[in-house]
Amino acid sequence: MAKKVVIIGGGHNGLVCAAYLARAGKQVTVLEKRHVLGGAAVTEEFYPGFRNSVCSYTVSLLNPKVISELNLYQHGLKIIPRAVNNFLPLPDGDSFASITGVLDEEVRRFSNRDVQALHDYEANIAAVVPVIKELMLMTPPALNGAGLSDYFGLFRLSRRFSKLDRKQQQFLLTLFVRSAGEVLDDQYETPALKALFGFDAIVGNYASPYMPGNGYNLLHHLIGEVHGESGRWGHAIGGMGAISDAIVAEGKKYGVRYHTNCAVSEVLLENKHVRGVATSDGATHDADIVVAGINPVLLFTHLLDQDEVPEEWLSHFRQYKCGSGAFRLNLALNGLPEFPGRKVQDYLTAGIILGSSLNYMDAAWQSARSQGWSDEPVVEMLIPSLVDDSLAPDGCHVASLFCQHFSPDLKSDWDTKKEQAVTAILETVEASFPGFRSLIEAQQVLSPWDLEQEFGLVGGDIFHGRMSPEQLFSVRPALGLAQYALPFKGLYLCGSGAHPGGGVSGLPGHNAARQILA
Ligand SMILES: Cc1cc2nc3c(=O)[nH]c(=O)nc-3n(C[C@H](O)[C@H](O)[C@H](O)COP(=O)(O)OP(=O)(O)OC[C@H]3O[C@@H](n4cnc5c(N)ncnc54)[C@H](O)[C@@H]3O)c2cc1C
Repeated sequence: MAKKVVIIGGGHNGLVCAAYLARAGKQVTVLEKRHVLGGAAVTEEFYPGFRNSVCSYTVSLLNPKVISELNLYQHGLKIIPRAVNNFLPLPDGDSFASITGVLDEEVRRFSNRDVQALHDYEANIAAVVPVIKELMLMTPPALNGAGLSDYFGLFRLSRRFSKLDRKQQQFLLTLFVRSAGEVLDDQYETPALKALFGFDAIVGNYASPYMPGNGYNLLHHLIGEVHGESGRWGHAIGGMGAISDAIVAEGKKYGVRYHTNCAVSEVLLENKHVRGVATSDGATHDADIVVAGINPVLLFTHLLDQDEVPEEWLSHFRQYKCGSGAFRLNLALNGLPEFPGRKVQDYLTAGIILGSSLNYMDAAWQSARSQGWSDEPVVEMLIPSLVDDSLAPDGCHVASLFCQHFSPDLKSDWDTKKEQAVTAILETVEASFPGFRSLIEAQQVLSPWDLEQEFGLVGGDIFHGRMSPEQLFSVRPALGLAQYALPFKGLYLCGSGAHPGGGVSGLPGHNAARQILA
């Protein structure tokens, strides 16, 4: 008889894992707490007539293997690359535009020296990205109690690494241990160019660009692609929910059953084996295998019987670092904003970064540490309705504002503070786009606390745990638990708290399914 599998959480990784397992003949049920599948990769109507990707809002990390094996394009997924990757309005009315193919000319406007520096940097990135990509598809070797397959994994890793030349090896190691700020200061002299790359280091990372070890976060945001074009970001037509919908369509082909409004309240154990789950409506679902697509903190400290979990794991997950410091606004606009300074064609379709230097980003973090947020926060604004008319009524638009450095430590205090934070965010946008506030018809506000309450993102952590070296690869989510199997027979982790971490990649779900089927 086919083994019964229950997946806890219908985030995109849970959905990916479900589709692979069902295709291999398992009888799979997905239980999702919210009214809609997709987790942080969803499209919802947040105001009558206005739909948007309410959390994640832009695609690049979605792995091509997952796209092709799960037939996502055949299920209707359409991704279009951004015409202008990023646009940074500068305080003096100038701007910096990152456009594929003409970045040299843009950099030359600021510094001849930085053109060559950019070439060197891009060559290093191009060399190390394939190594990281291969690593992301691996099951991390167990460093403690390693077996044969772990030694094989380590061997593969060292062979891949040794194919890089010494300079590239040094570059890769530097990114893992030094701060992105230091790396970028050594490389470039143009503040806006440093800010362009530095933004990737602080996205979803409540840290100064000068925090040692955050270079990996920068790399994590460069390893994606759109239609084979490395490092490119794009838009999923219909919003990020279109990705989840396409994965669900593949799962349905193989009989996956999906239950929404169905919160798992306990993982049922018997003699250290899973035997199913209980849900908050009082029902139970028997299962031979239970796969958690949720933050491991929720699993270990809420869903497992605390008397059964060894103290070692309880204390680990009490200290597991969660808290991205991300704040999210979805805005319904009755028109388009305009930057009064230097523009380039299609600049409004870019990821518009308000944060023109590493010092600005550092100051925003310092303020958040002392008062919860900065009056000049880092904001990325995207207006997806410019390339996707399914999102807003004619003549109207939706804007995604993804804002960094809003202290996760405020927890429920955000309920009374968030309006002040919204004011700071909108004033920051207004400073570059005069008249912006008068365009706003409605807003959806998601503070770090809202992200935790509504989406189960502990500390508002968009990655299910900080992506810093001590929580990556063989130690994600803990040394000894990085092989997707957890310390109860039949229990696995497939969400972003597993290797290779957060972002809409589908890879934790893909890798977990491979381990379960091995
Ligand atoms: C504001 C924001 C912006 C982001 N921007 C981007 C971006 O632009 N591009 C990008 O690639 N990534 C982005 N990310 C990161 C990315 O969206 C996430 O890392 C990724 O979607 C996580 O997927 P997941 O399947 O691992 O988990 P999740 O999406 O978190 O899914 C977990 C699911 O489990 C459910 N759940 C929780 N507890 C229970 C329970 N007890 N019972 C049943 N169900 C439960 C939750 O409701 C949720 O649906 C962003 C994230 C956020 C929050």
